[in-house]
Parts: sequence; structure tokens; C-alpha cells
Amino acid sequence: MLIMYSKCIGHKNASLTSSTNDSTPHTANPIDKDKSASLPSSTNYSSSILIHNEKDKLLGGLLASGFDEVSCISRLQSHTFRKVSPHKPSQYLISKLRDYEELHGKCGPDTRAYKRNLKHLQSKKYIGAAMCKYIVWDPSNGLGNQMISIVSAFLYAILTHRVLLVRFGTDLNDLFCEPFLNSTWVLPKNTPFWNERRVETYQTMLKKDKANSNPKEALPSTLFLNLQHTLDDPEKLFHCDHSQDLLRNIPLLILQSDQYFVPSLFMNPSFNLEINKMFPEKDTIFHHLARYLFHPSNEAWGLISRFYQTYLAEADERIGLQIRVFSPNTTPMQAIMDLVLNCTISNKLLPELDTKNSVSYSPNKTLKAVLVASLYPEYGESLMAMYLDRPSISGELIGVYQPSHEEKQKFHDNMHNMKAWTEMYLLSLSDVLVTTSLSTFGYVAQGLGGLKPWLLYKLISNDTHFPACERDFSFEPCNHIPPKHYCNGKAIKDYASSFPILRECIDYSNGVKLVNDSTI
Ligand code: GDP
Repeated sequence: MLIMYSKCIGHKNASLTSSTNDSTPHTANPIDKDKSASLPSSTNYSSSILIHNEKDKLLGGLLASGFDEVSCISRLQSHTFRKVSPHKPSQYLISKLRDYEELHGKCGPDTRAYKRNLKHLQSKKYIGAAMCKYIVWDPSNGLGNQMISIVSAFLYAILTHRVLLVRFGTDLNDLFCEPFLNSTWVLPKNTPFWNERRVETYQTMLKKDKANSNPKEALPSTLFLNLQHTLDDPEKLFHCDHSQDLLRNIPLLILQSDQYFVPSLFMNPSFNLEINKMFPEKDTIFHHLARYLFHPSNEAWGLISRFYQTYLAEADERIGLQIRVFSPNTTPMQAIMDLVLNCTISNKLLPELDTKNSVSYSPNKTLKAVLVASLYPEYGESLMAMYLDRPSISGELIGVYQPSHEEKQKFHDNMHNMKAWTEMYLLSLSDVLVTTSLSTFGYVAQGLGGLKPWLLYKLISNDTHFPACERDFSFEPCNHIPPKHYCNGKAIKDYASSFPILRECIDYSNGVKLVNDSTI
């Protein structure tokens, strides 16, 4: 009997947009800006969703109880969409998180302490031991870069007893729920620091420090800490005790970074001790902290949960395919498509086509759902057409779904970010993940999902590459610009010999990432 199965209704891609143009195969999915659309009931899930208990709901104690569940439905429901993580948070991490929440509750916006501290901070002079110290995270670059740097800033805040506040513009509005009980992490727009750009910088502080025998005298109350991605900057020495001793005395740090700088924190001996206690499994730092911080808002959760239940939940296996094209002008679509197929077919993530028969006689009717995330519609379209035109040799049925195709990265656009966040999250719900080398968008998905991805080679021309992809050894994000010098100024030649839990990243040999002790 002839069976050719695709769940794409009317041969159209599932879409997060509400295009009505019939010439494009991207159908409207009624999940566009419908903020009031009903959210799924947690009792009515498909068979592929596992039975979970109350402990799973709080992710093994990672999350605090006591939240108003209606204002953040994902916090209540997300565990029912995921397999239970085999990685449990340590008791020490849990206690550090509870301590942090207490600090945030005491010093966060809307507290008396916050108002009092603001007054002091405006005096712009070093004010001695402050009651509350802050780190304001300032956005730069795309959403993936922003999320990996928020996680790094949060770990730094925990380690240095600072309160983390995030400067979210309108483009980041309503993407995430508030992570801390009875408080907000959003920097209020009316603070004098919202547009603060003329504060002293970390770089000038280091220079002054060299020239000054009594550095505390010269310390400002607010400092701009630029850990931004640059290849040719002088060494920032942020990982050194001496820098941390100076920074410790500054009540407000405004941090700009697009990096996952957790590996640099590991290079500092006193942070290293604490992080080791918090994370006995070194490669789970992003996994735990991202699951703690980033809960999709109700609007984002509506998009995620409807898409998941409509297209992905019933599949026997879900494959996430993130196709990031870094040089669209020089890399033809076919070169990328060949790379994707080489990777997925040679590693048996997707089946080969049966070129001899037009029907499949195999009794295997396993259904695989492929979620394609890309700025360009062609990838989802051609993969879908491929598996509609011919049966697979294995008999497996392949459904292909691409939620959006934004064509280009857009800045200051809330709905664009909402779609990006939705897709990162959907990718993280996959059983198998294929991402593009160097993409922080992919790093967020792999970290949230606890998935070691297949890393597609980053093509930048009409070329081929063998192997087309390689399996990563850890689901931690890669730190693309780690410190290049020890604190005594000597160049670091080999990270692994000095820092045994650091390894060169597979997708970028100048970068480093954390590995678990057991893999060393
Ligand atoms: P990176 O540049 O790949 O490291 O990832 P970033 O997330 O930092 O920046 C890329 C940005 O481009 C994303 O945040 C999105 O705004 C957009 N983008 C790139 N790829 C996709 C995609 O597959 N889907 C969607 N919706 N947006 C994407």
C-alpha cells in the first residue's frame, strides 16, 4: 500500500506568521499576536508526553515554590513537554539560589534599600562598603548572545553577592517571566542609569590602578564593564584576582557582553572553588541556570505550546535542525542544503530516499518530525518537498515544519525576538539536535535541552566540507573570546593543561568550553 506521510497540512509549512499570500507555502498559524489565545491544559497532553511528578515541576528543587502560576504558565507546564533531565542541581547550587533570591528581595527595585542606594550612587564617588551592590546587564548583539551573557552575568552576580538587573528595551518586553519571587529583575526605566554612558570604564580604571598606589581612592561608584566580543582588544584581565579586588569595591557595574564568559570565571581561583561546589557536573552550568532564569512568558508559551502540540508532540522522534547562514551573499543555498543532507543522512539522523520505488514497502512507519529553524524559507521547503516526493528507504515518515522565515536579523523588533525565542525553545525540546557552528542561537537551544548537538560546519562560500558536521562533547556554550593571558601577563598556550576542565571548542578552536570531569 502506498503511504507517503507528512503532517504539513495542505503541503504548507507550519508558520508563526500570519501570511495570507497563497503563493508562499507558509500558512497562517493562528498563533500570531493572539495574546488572549487559550493555553493548553496540562491534563490533556498526547501520549508522547511523559508522566511527571511535583518534584519535576520545580526541576529537582532548582526553582523556588510560591510563584503565582497563572502569570507564568510555562513555569508550571514546561516540565510536561520535556524528558526529565538526568542532570540534577546540587544542594549547594539550590542553597545559593535561595540566598540570591533573598538578596534580590531585599535590594531589588521597589525596595527601600534600592532607593537609598540609588541616592548614594548618584554621588558618583566611592562610598565605602555599600549595603547592596548591583550589576546591570546591558544588551548587545542578537538574542542568543544576549541570553548566554545574561547567564554569565547571573553567575557572576551570585559569586560576588550582587543584584542582577537587566536593561530590557521594548524589543525584549514580554519574552520571559520574572525569574525571582516577589520581585523584578528589570531595571526600572526611571533610574538615572538607564542611559548612563559617561561612567568610568573598566579599562580606564585598570590604567589608573597601575599609576596609583592607593587605588581605592580613585574608585568610582559606577563603572562600565565592557566584556564585549572583540578579537584585537588588549587583555581585559577580568579573570584575575587583582581586577576582582578592585571591582569588588564598586557598588554598581554596568556590564556589556555578548559572550558566555563563565569559563573566564573558572580561571579565577576563588570563583573556581565556589563554582566547583555549585556544579559538580561542570558541563551543566548553562543548563541549570538557563532553566532557572528563562521561562517563556505566557505569550511566548502560547506560541511554543500550540506549535509543539500541533506539529511535534505526536512524532516518535523530534529532530531540531538549526540552519544559520552567516554569509548569505557568498554561500549558495544548495551548498548549505548539501551540507545539511550530508550531515543528517550520513549520521543516520534522517533516512535516505528510495530512488527506485515510488512507494515504500517497509512495515516501519516511524514518524520523525523535523523542526527547521532558519531565517530563510528555502531550507524547510526543500526538505519537505524531498520527503514528499519520494519515500524513504527505511519507510520512516518525515514531517518537516519551519515556524518562521524572517529573511534577516532584525534589531529592536519585539515580535522578531519573540519568534527567535520560540524557536530556540522548540529546538530545545528535540530528541536530536543539529545546530550551526558558532551560533549562540543554537547554544541556547542545546543548553536548555541538555543536548549535545551535531555541529554543522560554518560554510562561507560555495564549497563543501568533510565531515559536514561533528558531534559536540558538551552542551555548554562556547566562550568565543576567552582570556589569552595568565594574570602575570604570559600568553596562555594550552588551556587544557592549565585549566583541566576547559577544552578548545569543536566549532571554534580559539574558543573554550567546559567539560565534565568524567570526560577528562
Ligand atoms: P547567532 O548570531 O547565530 O550567534 O545568534 P543570535 O541569536 O545572537 O543572533 C541572531 C539573530 O538573528 C537571532 O537572535 C534572531 O533575531 C535572528 N535569527 C537567526 N536565525 C534565526 C532563526 O532560525 N529563526 C528566527 N526566528 N530568527 C533567527
